[in-house]
Amino acid sequence: MILPLAYYGNPILRKKCKRVEAIDDDLRKLVADLEETMFAHDGIGLAAPQVGIDLTLFVRNIPTQTSHDQWVPGKTEVFINPKILEYSQEKDWRGEGCLSIPNLYGEVERPSRIKVEYTNMEGNRVTAEYSGLKARNIMHENDHLNGVLFIDRIYGKERQEMEQTLREIKKKYAGK
Ligand code: ZN
Repeated sequence: MILPLAYYGNPILRKKCKRVEAIDDDLRKLVADLEETMFAHDGIGLAAPQVGIDLTLFVRNIPTQTSHDQWVPGKTEVFINPKILEYSQEKDWRGEGCLSIPNLYGEVERPSRIKVEYTNMEGNRVTAEYSGLKARNIMHENDHLNGVLFIDRIYGKERQEMEQTLREIKKKYAGK
């Protein structure tokens, strides 16, 4: 089922989410709905608060590039109660957007590599290391679980230039 998205201005996006306590049928349904909603909006990641649920989990699906310069969907991964254990000193810049803040993009500086611990759908606690877009995507989604949005990581003039658009988005999606 495609779930309605929570948009910028919705207080759920500013909450610190609660831990997932059990991987049961309700959670499996939520994960399936998150995946369907992410695909419906051409997203590469979607966190539970973005559909109005304050639980610490997100799904992501990073497309892979084929040899013919085409992109195909990758494998959907589920991160439950994630905790980023280590960040690299090295950082890089890359443009980001967010399904909860439609049509707004900005360059965000983030660590290049991370080590993350999370629970998978089998209920196992696992640790993995990622770099590049796969790391950035986790940091963006993990921020959502702490009530942080990518625009909070853009400063100065760049951020000031976004304010008008942000006010318009807030007005347009008020109550959603
Ligand atoms: Zn987002």
